[in-house]
Amino acid sequence: MKMSKLFVKTKREFPSDAEAISHKLLVRAGYIKKLSSGIYSYLPLAWRVIQKVEQIVREEMNKAGAQELLMPFVQPAEIWQKSGRWAKYGKELMRTKDRSGNEMCLAPTHEEVITSIADGLLDSYKQLPINLYQIQTKFRDEIRPRFGLLRGREFVMKDAYSFHTSQESLEEEYENMARAYTAIFNRCGLETKAVQSDSGAIGGAVSHEFMVLTDTEVGENDVFYCTKCDYSANSNHATSNLNIEETDSGFTEEKIVDTPNTKTIEEVAKFFNVETNCILKSVLYIVDSKPVMAMIRGDKEVEETKLLNICEGIEIRPATSAEAAEITGSEAGYLSFVGLEDKIKVVFDKSANKMKNFIIGANEPEKHIAGYNFKEMPEFVDISLVKKGEKCPICGEPLDVTRGIEVGNIFQLGTKYSAAMNAQYTNENGELKPYIMGCYGIGVTRVVSAAIEKFHDDFGIIWPEAIAPYKVIIVPVNTQDELQMQTATEIYNKLLEAGVEVVLDDRDERAGVKFKDADLIGFPYKVVVGKSITEGKVEFKTRTSKDAELLTPEEAIKKFI
Ligand code: ATP
Ligand code: MG
Repeated sequence: MKMSKLFVKTKREFPSDAEAISHKLLVRAGYIKKLSSGIYSYLPLAWRVIQKVEQIVREEMNKAGAQELLMPFVQPAEIWQKSGRWAKYGKELMRTKDRSGNEMCLAPTHEEVITSIADGLLDSYKQLPINLYQIQTKFRDEIRPRFGLLRGREFVMKDAYSFHTSQESLEEEYENMARAYTAIFNRCGLETKAVQSDSGAIGGAVSHEFMVLTDTEVGENDVFYCTKCDYSANSNHATSNLNIEETDSGFTEEKIVDTPNTKTIEEVAKFFNVETNCILKSVLYIVDSKPVMAMIRGDKEVEETKLLNICEGIEIRPATSAEAAEITGSEAGYLSFVGLEDKIKVVFDKSANKMKNFIIGANEPEKHIAGYNFKEMPEFVDISLVKKGEKCPICGEPLDVTRGIEVGNIFQLGTKYSAAMNAQYTNENGELKPYIMGCYGIGVTRVVSAAIEKFHDDFGIIWPEAIAPYKVIIVPVNTQDELQMQTATEIYNKLLEAGVEVVLDDRDERAGVKFKDADLIGFPYKVVVGKSITEGKVEFKTRTSKDAELLTPEEAIKKFI
């Protein structure tokens, strides 16, 4: 490819609407163009990178025994109604109607379609196990599309689905996929950590996310990991060994106390001169338009996904002050479950199960109750967010936390979809049984962004070689110089002939401009043909090397062939 023909327009400035470095670089280096919020065109450079990632995914999936197919992107509501997810999948599911008024949706994922394919085509146990995958566009109407390709609304995903006759067979395939994922990400130049996770809208009991660890904000997940053993989990799933000890405020008599201006836990603790773990905190949420009060020890925070799962809800958000006032008749800062137990759902975190004589809101403005004890022991469940330093649930050593970009996710679904959709095979005894299923996703376009997040410098992208759009750029310093241009063209032609992905920067531009573009776009190698060609030498450089190697044109060519 000649640079004068390559469809790319690099920019001097970063786009003003981008926060993540990968987003900034993808736009500035001419890889993507925004069409609408979270919807991008992949320009030729980006498409080459995406296709490289796809090819790696394809090779490793095939090697692992999976078979590729392609399913429809627009799907009828019926199959979603059958699985129960038409009602349960929130606003991320983009719903629409066709001209006849039939309800349809844009695919955010394909469990329903694959299950309906299996039903009738995978009749016998003899056909199982089997793993089917596709690489395709997905649409999710994300509440907050951001960071360019990291969280788009339209994006490319590889999704695979496996069918089994037993849990053991599913577990074997789950391990097989975990190995394939590690191989895929390694080949893309990315080191990943497989962490336990919540299964979210996809469902199932066991799931792991593959995280690219990063300490920046674009890693939208907090990953807790043990400093000693290999326990690691997304914060939405992580637990710790709290060894809950009894806490006692010392107020042995229950009484209502005027507590003006004590809205925060710290203010209440100061007022009563107690530790925060002697206060039972009340946090009011709205889960699918219904109020839910979370009760948790004062030194702990609520993990919203855990609470949402306990409520079997779809969407969760904290209640506004106005809602809190309306629902409780009190005021935020003085809330409690006392008197509301029969009116709204109340969930108690297990951190509260050894509290004695505690302080709690009185459900009246500017008042708390001191010396409260549960009249009847409630059921305690885990709705708390783990904190750095808490003990590992496996080995008891302290947990640490980092951030992660989720590039892949594997799930043991069990019979969630096959049972709901009545999709069955016949076993050895001639009985009909629902398939035991697994599913396995990789965010192909997110992998591209994650690679840039990991590998860039002040000058631009530093692609891992395996996914770079081109391998090498040949830069004649002065295109007017006949010898330079002729040598550059010869090297270019020889590399082209040998099948090397090469670009010749034939533009009549200043050398500085060409070098800047080469670094910004991120070619792993550069061959510069300048004045030293009069001595028969060209310069060979990697994207990150400071010094050039002086080589003959033949030696430079040999670096690639
Ligand atoms: P997230 O928690 O980041 O919203 P998810 O858990 O909902 O993702 P999955 O259903 O597990 O996503 O989808 C499989 C993979 O697809 C994810 O691991 C991720 O790499 C990718 N992915 C999901 N949502 C997006 C998105 N909005 N933009 C780009 N990639 C995405
Ligand atoms: Mg996921």
